[in-house]
Amino acid sequence: MTTPPNISQMQINDMLYARDMAGDEVHAIQSYLRHYGYLQDQFGALHDGEYDEATEKAVRLYQCCFGLPVSGALDQATLCEMAKPRCGFVDIPPIGGAFTAISRWEQSDITYRFNSFSTKIAKADIERDVASAFDLWSEQCDLRFAMSADGTVDIEIEFAQGAHGDENPFDGPSGVLAHAFFPPPNGGPLAGDTHFDDDENWTCNVGDSQGIDFLTVAAHEFGHAIGLGHSRQRGALMFPSYSGPQRFLAPDDIAGCQSLYGPPSVSDTDNCPS
Ligand SMILES: [Zn+2]
Ligand SMILES: [Zn+2]
Repeated sequence: MTTPPNISQMQINDMLYARDMAGDEVHAIQSYLRHYGYLQDQFGALHDGEYDEATEKAVRLYQCCFGLPVSGALDQATLCEMAKPRCGFVDIPPIGGAFTAISRWEQSDITYRFNSFSTKIAKADIERDVASAFDLWSEQCDLRFAMSADGTVDIEIEFAQGAHGDENPFDGPSGVLAHAFFPPPNGGPLAGDTHFDDDENWTCNVGDSQGIDFLTVAAHEFGHAIGLGHSRQRGALMFPSYSGPQRFLAPDDIAGCQSLYGPPSVSDTDNCPS
C-alpha cells in the first residue's frame, strides 16, 4: 500500500468542479478515493486522470459516508472534508449501519508496550494519555489493558516519520495522523500495533486549538486495535476524520465494542455484600 495523496497540501482551486479538473488533480482524487476504499470494481472501468463515471460514483459514495450532499461533484464541502487530517485506515465500504466490527482478541487481558516516543510531547504525558484512551474502551466492554515492559505484548505503540517498516509510510504534517492494525489473524505480526505520525503537531493539552489532540487520536486508533473499523456516524469516535478533541465514546462506539466483547464483567469485589 502506498501513501494516499495529502489533499491538504494540494493546490486545488476552491471553485474547481468535477469535469473542469485537470489530469493531475483528478489522478490525486482517484488515488485518495482508491486508498480509502471508495473506488470499487463494480463502478466500471476507471480512466486514470479523467473524471469518469466510476470516479463520480466513488465521490457519491464518499459524500454519502461523510454525510455531505450527494452530488457526485467535487464541490467545496467535499474537497474541504478530504483536506481534513484523518486516520490512515481504509474506510470499510459501508453496508447499512454505523459501526463495523472486524475481528476480536480471544482474551480479555491485553498488554501493550511503547517501542518509541514522540519528539513533540513528553513521555509521561504520552503514557498518561494512552492509559486514559484505553480506559475509555475498558469502561464500556470486557477488556482490560496493562503496560508490560518485557516479553511479548499484544499492542506495540510507536511514533514514526515517513517510511517506518510497514507498507504504510506516513505523509508529513496533516493528512494521515496515525494507523493501527486489527487483532489477529488480521495484520499478521503487526496485529494490534498502533503507529502515530511524529510529523504531526501533537498536543496533550485539550485547550490547544492549534494542535492535534493525542488522546483523541489514540482512543480512535485503539478502537481499530481492538477490532472496530470506521463508523459512518458523524460524532462517533470511530468516524474517519479528525475534527478536534473528542475524549469520549459515542453510543455507536459503545455498541461496537460491546458487540465484540460484551459489557464490562462485574468484578468479585462488586459482588461482595457491603
Ligand atoms: Zn481510523
Ligand atoms: Zn505504520
